[in-house]
Amino acid sequence: MKWTPGVVTRKTVWSEGLFTLAIEAPEVSPFEPGQFLQLGVELEDGHVHRPYSVASPHGRTLEFFIVLVEDGKLTPHLWSKEVGDSIDVSARAAGSFTLSHCPDASVLWLVGTGTGLAPYIALLRTDEPWQRYSKIVVVHGVRHSTDLAYQQELAGHKERYGDRFDSIPVVSRQEVPGALSGRITTCIANGTLEAAAHQAFTPDCCVMMCGNPDMLTDMETLLGERGIKRHKAKDPGQIVVERYW
Ligand SMILES: Cc1cc2nc3c(=O)[nH]c(=O)nc-3n(C[C@H](O)[C@H](O)[C@H](O)COP(=O)(O)OP(=O)(O)OC[C@H]3O[C@@H](n4cnc5c(N)ncnc54)[C@H](O)[C@@H]3O)c2cc1C
Repeated sequence: MKWTPGVVTRKTVWSEGLFTLAIEAPEVSPFEPGQFLQLGVELEDGHVHRPYSVASPHGRTLEFFIVLVEDGKLTPHLWSKEVGDSIDVSARAAGSFTLSHCPDASVLWLVGTGTGLAPYIALLRTDEPWQRYSKIVVVHGVRHSTDLAYQQELAGHKERYGDRFDSIPVVSRQEVPGALSGRITTCIANGTLEAAAHQAFTPDCCVMMCGNPDMLTDMETLLGERGIKRHKAKDPGQIVVERYW
């Protein structure tokens, strides 16, 4: 892998262990929103790197939305980074979790758990989703209200696009005003998610989903019951998936 130098220019801590690093990495080649880069550090026992969705479109400075995995190999080192620290960034992005791999439709659902919100933050900062889809719904599943990052930015899209946009937080371990309670899949099964979105899951949609593998599997099963299936170039459907582990 080819590495380029990165320097942390901003660290936003949303809650303990949940953070965004803005990294100046001007040598990274242009990429599509939704793609991922590798972040790496040199440790005593070698170079450790992992993939991270870029939470911003291509530019001189790139954002990454990261959660500390307590006994993880890399994230404790990323969590300890401060402004001015250096970090390795892969020179080229990869991945097909992009709008160029999504079918046209009326409605774009952007469903993510935890840091699975990252690629959508990047996408929504560009014009393409707003030009291609009449309505966009972000569904962000978290455990606690303190995990709800980027709320202000999402509220800004709502202000700008009105009925064309909804952002629905789904909190599983707390009752939170303005958020749905439970898991995303429970809220689909009991109808509360579609009611909150003023929008049903119909085959005239594209569903991007990203994050926790259990959520991805359960959602695909639920949506399958409504005739919504994985999108493939040779067998068009609606669902495009990014698994984080
Ligand atoms: C395409 C892709 C994009 C990714 N983008 C992001 C991103 O934008 N932000 C991000 O925080 N992570 C992202 N990840 C996960 C990331 O690559 C690492 O797996 C994660 O940061 C843990 O690294 P670690 O070395 O600390 O843990 P490891 O020692 O590698 O332990 C891995 C374990 O950590 C847990 N884990 C991994 N990722 C997460 C997560 N996001 N939330 C909760 N638990 C997790 C799982 O149990 C997994 O088995 C992405 C993964 C993939 C494949």
